[in-house]
Amino acid sequence: MKVYFLGTGTSQGIPIIGIDHEVCKSTDFKDKRLRVSVWITWEDHSYVIDCGPDFRQQMLSSNCRKLDGILFTHEHADHTAGLDDIRPFNFKQGAIPIYAHKRVLANIEKRFDYIFETVNRYPGAPSVKTIEIENNMPFSIGNKTAIPVSVWHGNLQVFGFRIDDFAYLTDVKTIDEAETDKLKNLKVLVVNALREQPHDTHFNLEEALDFIALLQPEKAYLTHISHMLGFHEEVQKKLPKNVFLAYDNLEITI
Ligand SMILES: [Zn+2]
Repeated sequence: MKVYFLGTGTSQGIPIIGIDHEVCKSTDFKDKRLRVSVWITWEDHSYVIDCGPDFRQQMLSSNCRKLDGILFTHEHADHTAGLDDIRPFNFKQGAIPIYAHKRVLANIEKRFDYIFETVNRYPGAPSVKTIEIENNMPFSIGNKTAIPVSVWHGNLQVFGFRIDDFAYLTDVKTIDEAETDKLKNLKVLVVNALREQPHDTHFNLEEALDFIALLQPEKAYLTHISHMLGFHEEVQKKLPKNVFLAYDNLEITI
């Protein structure tokens, strides 16, 4: 299985519009971060987790030619706003399956009402097949099983996903103990780390590292990163041996 980091930035991306912060002005390509998403492929299967406002650009830069489905973590715009741009996949493949909690599906139906229009539907509108997912109900994607992992983004419930020995968790601030049981013996854990200062709804760096130390995956990659975390090269030097800052267009094999 291959995991391609399509975006590793927090909600505004890096650089931020109109900001003169030194990290936003960095010329290191590892300091340029689109909104957070990963592309997961194995054999001829191809799925993305989340579909934020940079989706079109991400599909072009990764050269993704086929999409079997989108798994949504939650409804915030930095994770959903790119849904209109699935149209090139619709024209080749038909409706694209989207997997999400029923609250998230309801939100997507409100944001993108024209996608769900049945009367006088615009012929070029995107087309999706909704699949409701629930906690403790693993579901099939291709010939693999995805296990939802319920976490808390402040007081909003968000899903992470475990697929084989890989788990992807973003926008986590807290997690119930029963859910951490789903994350044992991981080869690779991806988890969010916003910045050094604490934040109400996201792990800061210290919380993310504590969480990694608790779960003991073979390797961990940090994502959903703010410019306030600092330069990629400098932050990476401070991390434990098995922890890496993810960056856009990084591809790992599991
Ligand atoms: Zn987010």
